[in-house]
Amino acid sequence: MTGVPYLSSRLQGFGTTVFAEMSALAVATGSVNLGQGFPDYPGPPEVLEVARAAIGTAADQYPPGPGIPELRAAIANHHQRFTGLGYDPADEVLVTAGATEALTAALLALLDPGDEVVLFEPMYDSYAAAVAMAGGVVRPVPLRPPADGHGRWSFDRADLAAAVTPRTTLLLLNTPHNPTGKVFTAEELATLASLAVAHDLLVLTDEVYEHLVFDGARHVSLATLPGMRDRTLVVGSAGKTFNVTGWKVGWICGPAALVSAVRTAKQFLTYVNGGPFQPAVAAGLTLPDAYFARAAEDLQYRRDVLVRGLAEAGLPVISPEATYFATVDVRPVRPDGDGLAFCRSLPQRAGVVAIPTVVFYSAGNAALGRHLVRFAFCKSDAVLAEAVERLAGMSGKESA
Ligand SMILES: *Cc1c(COP(=O)(O)O)cnc(C)c1O
Repeated sequence: MTGVPYLSSRLQGFGTTVFAEMSALAVATGSVNLGQGFPDYPGPPEVLEVARAAIGTAADQYPPGPGIPELRAAIANHHQRFTGLGYDPADEVLVTAGATEALTAALLALLDPGDEVVLFEPMYDSYAAAVAMAGGVVRPVPLRPPADGHGRWSFDRADLAAAVTPRTTLLLLNTPHNPTGKVFTAEELATLASLAVAHDLLVLTDEVYEHLVFDGARHVSLATLPGMRDRTLVVGSAGKTFNVTGWKVGWICGPAALVSAVRTAKQFLTYVNGGPFQPAVAAGLTLPDAYFARAAEDLQYRRDVLVRGLAEAGLPVISPEATYFATVDVRPVRPDGDGLAFCRSLPQRAGVVAIPTVVFYSAGNAALGRHLVRFAFCKSDAVLAEAVERLAGMSGKESA
């Protein structure tokens, strides 16, 4: 047998990630790390204070399996406030160890071996591994970058139609989308909703960037479209909204029968997590609308700083409509269009670390993302300024 020793056949191919390689390179070269997507500034004090005060109390012990009632109520109210959808905190809301566990538990709960999952790529790196752990099969639909670098990433309806087979049971959507920064449009969501209804698919939608949208773009949950609430599980997380990615408090909401299935898997993964963080996240979800608007504005400003810096360094940027990430086309400075090689040499050349977008594609579509690189801009003013200055000093064309 070939492959990684000891690793089960289900997980072959998921052995090492480029994130570890790039983070190690950042440390070794003293580079500014714009690879991993986590903020280097703290969350709102109203949220942090609640967690501090909860430590040393009964909140340190196992919370109830579905999450503390206060947090489940806050999640339901937050949904009502921002999407208009009502979920019953008693049996339609489940608190999880981050969005990652919500997604994995849902896939483990809902998929039988051989069941197919339609999703878009590039895709968040846990999706394919979680589908594999559940014994499912990924059917990727490529998102194509805007041809001239302006406008939106889009998908071909024929690609979508071709991905659906009689074995398809689930559609997995991520909007706003990592790594592209795309916000799926009303028209695209309508296409997806009618596909789900026509093929009687379950839908799992990852909306961890729901509040981090720019320029007046609007995030719409697929669950709000006609016929969708009853077949859709919506995943959210505190990490991205409140700058607390290490807390790993997420949630999943949907009709009681689906949430009950997810709970069955979840109770044997972590059972529960984040005792003192649960009341803190409840406080965060209860913050006024202005907090959420300000979080988006603040990040939009950081996006603008990085996008301008990248453009001035001679790198064409696809400016994102949402999320933490901007995408660069390396071809002007790297004629062979090898984004992975670009990222491997960037720490030496410029003292900056980024992630090659190719790692977010399955092997079959890797060519589509070969020339693209993802930079994170959820960083402090000083770090962004340093990165921009270093990129500006990058010398001319790199030989392939
Ligand atoms: C960060 C991220 C997650 C993981 O969220 P956690 O709450 O940290 O588990 C899931 N999906 C996407 C698209 C992300 O960017």
